[in-house]
Amino acid sequence: TDFGFRRVDLDAKQGLVDDVFHKVAGRYDLMNDFMSVGLHRVWKDVMVNRLGISKTRAFNHLDVAGGTGDVAFKVVSEGSGARANVCDINGEMLKVGRQRAAERDLDARVEFVQGNAEELPFPSSTFDGYTIAFGIRNVPRIQKALDEAHRVLRPGGRLLVLEFSPEVIPGLDRAYDLYSFNIIPPMGKLVTGDAQPYQYLVESIRKFPRPQVFAGMIAKAGFSRVDVTPMTGGVVCLHGGWKI
Ligand code: SAM
Repeated sequence: TDFGFRRVDLDAKQGLVDDVFHKVAGRYDLMNDFMSVGLHRVWKDVMVNRLGISKTRAFNHLDVAGGTGDVAFKVVSEGSGARANVCDINGEMLKVGRQRAAERDLDARVEFVQGNAEELPFPSSTFDGYTIAFGIRNVPRIQKALDEAHRVLRPGGRLLVLEFSPEVIPGLDRAYDLYSFNIIPPMGKLVTGDAQPYQYLVESIRKFPRPQVFAGMIAKAGFSRVDVTPMTGGVVCLHGGWKI
């Protein structure tokens, strides 16, 4: 149930998230490479490969919380008929994304649209693929975002969610905690001048639902053949589902 105060909490969360990405937009890509030691590129490659985009046929894609465009650029480079929409709530992130698209000569095939994952500004049954990478953790009402993903996909469309997981394999967990809490926030402060957004980042990973619970939420949104692929010792999970 969504009582008055719960709603205030959730709206406050979105406000905090917006501040974080507003502050870091200009240095976001640099920090991504730095903090994941380049691994975010590999994780995104695995996700985009899984979409199985044809080299020639048309593919209409939506990347939500797409920020500076990484996933969308990979999607359109998979096939000559692929087009992508990047939807993000934050205008600063989209601004960086538009610049990057122009630098790559991809502005004709990638469109940047400001919007909320919980209320997507697209008609129903529009897209062949929907991705969200390291974004759903930031959305206050996760179930609502998954319901929206299901709505905008056409029947036969594919959902893929890439997200950090709170469940890391034993043996790696201690080192991972040390890295997360003792290295990431100070490193964030060094590069962006502010540790707080990075403190938020590591805390939000711990609060995200465990992989099996999240898979249940995907199924609840109406998706079929829901699956989970843990990567890098469970630091990240790739979740998938089909709208049929
Ligand atoms: N997908 C990109 C990537 O992997 O590099 C960006 C991920 S970044 C960690 C999270 C993004 O989620 C930010 O750009 C932020 O603005 C966006 N975001 C947060 N809340 C959102 C919402 N409710 N709807 C859409 N995007 C949102």
